[in-house]
Order: sequence, then structure tokens, then C-alpha cells
Amino acid sequence: MLVFRGSGGLRMTKFVFVTGGVSSSLGKGLTASSLGRLLKSRGLKVTMCKLDPYLNVDPGTMNPGEHGEVFVTDDGGETDLDLGHYERFIDESLSKMSNTTTGSVYSNVIAKERRGDYLGKTVQVIPHITDEIKERVRRLGTLGADVVIVEIGGTVGDIEIVPFIESIRQFRRDAGRDNVCYVHLTLVPYLAPSGEQKTKPTQHSVTELRSRGIQPDIIVCRSDQPLSDGLKRKISLLCDVPMQAVISAVDAPSIYDIPITMHDEGLDTMVCNTLGIDLEANPIDLSAWRDVVRRVHSTTKTLRIGVIGKYVTMPDAYLSVGESIRHAGFAVGAKTAIEWLEAERVPTEIDSERIRQLDGIVVPGGFGERGVEGMIAAARIAREHDIPYLGLCLGMQVMVVEFARHCLGLSDAHSTEISISTSAPVIALMAEQMDVTDLGGTMRLGACPAMLDEGSVVAELYGTTVVSERHRHRYEFNSRYRAQFEAAGMRCSGTSPDGRLVEFTEIADHPFYVGTQAHPEFKSRPDRPHPLFLGLIKAAAARAEGREPHIIDPESVNATL
Ligand code: GLN
Repeated sequence: MLVFRGSGGLRMTKFVFVTGGVSSSLGKGLTASSLGRLLKSRGLKVTMCKLDPYLNVDPGTMNPGEHGEVFVTDDGGETDLDLGHYERFIDESLSKMSNTTTGSVYSNVIAKERRGDYLGKTVQVIPHITDEIKERVRRLGTLGADVVIVEIGGTVGDIEIVPFIESIRQFRRDAGRDNVCYVHLTLVPYLAPSGEQKTKPTQHSVTELRSRGIQPDIIVCRSDQPLSDGLKRKISLLCDVPMQAVISAVDAPSIYDIPITMHDEGLDTMVCNTLGIDLEANPIDLSAWRDVVRRVHSTTKTLRIGVIGKYVTMPDAYLSVGESIRHAGFAVGAKTAIEWLEAERVPTEIDSERIRQLDGIVVPGGFGERGVEGMIAAARIAREHDIPYLGLCLGMQVMVVEFARHCLGLSDAHSTEISISTSAPVIALMAEQMDVTDLGGTMRLGACPAMLDEGSVVAELYGTTVVSERHRHRYEFNSRYRAQFEAAGMRCSGTSPDGRLVEFTEIADHPFYVGTQAHPEFKSRPDRPHPLFLGLIKAAAARAEGREPHIIDPESVNATL
């Protein structure tokens, strides 16, 4: 039985469930995040979570080229990339509790069964799996939020989504009708031959949801043109929701416009009405968000930033990196035209000349050998040609390898992740550095503190010498080489508090050449760009001032917001 905070007449936690129909990739995550921002702008405390129907226990083992980025939380959760949208929109740090997968639910239930917790009962999808799902959602509601927004991954009608839909159906019974709101996102396609927008897919999708016992309170309709009142009336009639509960969600010029358009369509008003949240007592203040949107649309220059990575054909693989670059751009009034360059094609098909046209370079994180030589080549071009460079995790490691090879004369230098037999293992597992084998190769995950050197570039950028960033890696700078690096001009400008792990590297005699073992991209916000990205973008802007006009028109590259 679920127990709710405040059941003794005090304030109750409210729950919004966001499902999707018709098609995947309609922007459920962004719709949920936008709603989160709107409710937060009404002074409500909001938290969010994602229920993913796949069998992986978490996305940590999934190929980013297929599934997109793995978003890392402070507590070391390897989570779905939608949590990145949540954090950027509601500006709250989430934890691993905010991502549940079918795999994690089953593995918990099976572990309980093995322990004998079910006292000889037959363990079944209903009630054991559904109870486990409900319990996870309920637990989030005990952490002080006024509203918990729960996004259900996948599409209504999928086989594997059924236990989640059943759980959220039961949830309204458990939590009380007024404490739960169901938002359903669908597609209203425009059919050119008939010259009409079609509501049939929406009707089918709502029918499917109803067949599982859920009547949506609000239907958000994605379409490329606004829905007419006539169409809204039709959906209202056929899907049995008030006309104001049919929300038109047209393609927005940038993702940061979505909260504003959703507000103008009345999404947050309808959600509050459904949940009995007093609109007068919780007036909306969107001024801060409107400022963000104003900055997004008032850029006066364009900077070309190259992201040189392994999974560039799937920019979702670097979602937070792209957003962090954009956030920093907004802060300096620059549109950032991001060129996604495939590391494997550097320096052959993508040659030094092409890279030298960039205003700045980011080499993001990654695992395995593919593309690493190209990243090393890019780090070299950036160092030798004064191109602002920011290395993130693997991006720092390649900058260290490059420096060792070309500035320390260690031509065989490498990371032991790629060459176990290198004579100069400048990047290595902790265990290898300490000549012990029992530390294993476990991943360093989640927030770790670091101490920065006074007067270093990074201390200057952060404006402090104590920072915390999120990690996700196994290999580290090999401290045995530290003195050699420092003597030749690459400073280890930040370390773990015990001084053993190098967290930041930089070259002072360069416009901007900074690497971090962490993933700062997870902490950038649209209105608060991350200091390292801001440093890069400012240096890129300075470079752009001094350079020849672009040979390639930056507007023509794939710089979608
Ligand atoms: N593959 C490297 C390591 O494990 C870098 C990881 C990353 O970039 N996230 O250390």
C-alpha cells in the first residue's frame, strides 16, 4: 500500500505521468522538461524521473552511437540522456533514483525472490513488478518535491511498456484522483495530398491508452503547423478531453522556446487545474526563462566549433556537449555552428587546413581505440596552431598523449586502454600505476572534488580553487610522468584532494588549451554556462575576431539548435 506525505491533511505530492503515442522521437523528454520548468516557475518544487522499458539495468553498457549519450548524475548514476534535459530545464541535480529500467526492476525483484522476501508466493508481473515500479515513483515523492514528473519511455502499444502503463494506472487509485495527471503526447501529421492535418493517429493512440485503463487528462499534439480550433474541437470530442486540454506543440525554433510555447498553449494551467494546484497562489514568473530565450535569439556572430569524436553521425551521443557549447555561446552573444567531425577521418579526409578554420575544438569523451589517433592529431593541430581546445575526459587523455609524443620525445606514448605494451604509459589504470592488480578496472563514476592550483587557467575560469565535477572513466593521468610534463609546459593544474589523481591539465602559453578528466558538460545550464566551456568560447570568439572571413559558410553547417 502506498503512503503519501501529508496524508494527514497536509500538502500532498502530485504526480504527472507523460506517455507517448504514434511514434517515437516526438519530444516526450522535452515536453516533460518544459512542463517541469513551467511548474518550477510557479514556485513549485519539481523533480523528475524516466521509466525506460528496455532490459538493460542501466544505459551504461549501451552504445552511444545507437542510444545516445549516457548522462551521469552526481551520485554516479549512468542514466538516460533525457535526465540531461530535465537537469538543464528544471535546474535541479537529479540522482540515479530518477532513472528506472525494466532491467533494474526485474533484477531487484529477482534478488528479493532469491532472498525469500516473497515468503513462498508466486512472483508475478502483477503485483510484484508493478509494485516495484510504483514504489520507485512513490519514493521520489518522499524527497520533498511538490510535483514529480514521470516520463514513460517508448510508445504506447509497445509490448515492453505494458507493466509501466499498468503501474501508472494503479498509481492514480493509490495516490488519489486529484494527485495524478496523465499527459499523452501524440503526432498530428500533415498529409500533403489531402492538404489536411490528420487526427486519426491521435485517436488510435488514445484508444490504445484507454484499453490499458488510462484516460489522458491532457493531449499534447506535435505537428508542423499549429492546430486550428476546429481540429482541437475534434480531438476534444473524440478523445474526451476539454478543448483547453488539447495542446498544440509546433516545432520550435530552439528547444529553449518550448516552455514558452507550452505555456502560451496553457499546458501548465491545465496540469495545475487537474491536480488542484491553486493558480492564483502559484502565479508564474517566466522572466528568467524569457531572458534565456532572448539570448538564444539575439546572437550577433557565429563561431565554428568542431567536435571531434567517434559517434558524430549521432549527435545525441554528445547531447550535453552540444548544449554546453551553445549555452556558452548564448552568454557571449554568439551562435555556435557545431561541426561534428569524425575522428577516424582526421587527419586524412579531414585535414589540418579544415581544422585550422575552426574557431575552437572540443574532443569529447569516449571508449576504445577507434578514432583515437585522429583525436591525437586534432590535439596536435590545436596546440601548434593556437586553436582553442577543450578536452573532456578522453579529450584530456589524448592531449596528454600528444604532448608526450611531440614535446617530451616519448614517441611511443599512449594510454594503456589502447596500447597495453606502450613503453610510455602516460595514461593508465590506477592499478597499473601502482603496480598492483587488486584495484581492478572499475569505473570512477559521479561527482568527485578537485583542488585547483592558484593562478592556473582553470582556477581563473572557475573563480575558485575547490570544484566538483562528474566522472565516468577508468584510466587516469600517470602521475609518474607529472614532473616531466610540468617541466615541458603542460601543467597539472587540478588534482584530487589527496593530490594523487590529475584532474585538469593546461598549457599557459596558448590562447586556450585545457583538459579535464571529468565531464563538465553535465553541469552546464542554459542560463549558467559551465566556466570551462565559457573559457573555450571566449577564446574562440577572440580567434574569430582576428581571422579571415570563413571559407565555408558557417550557416551552412549542421548547426541545428
Ligand atoms: N576511455 C577512457 C577511460 O576509461 C575515457 C572515458 C571517457 O571519456 N568517459 O578512462
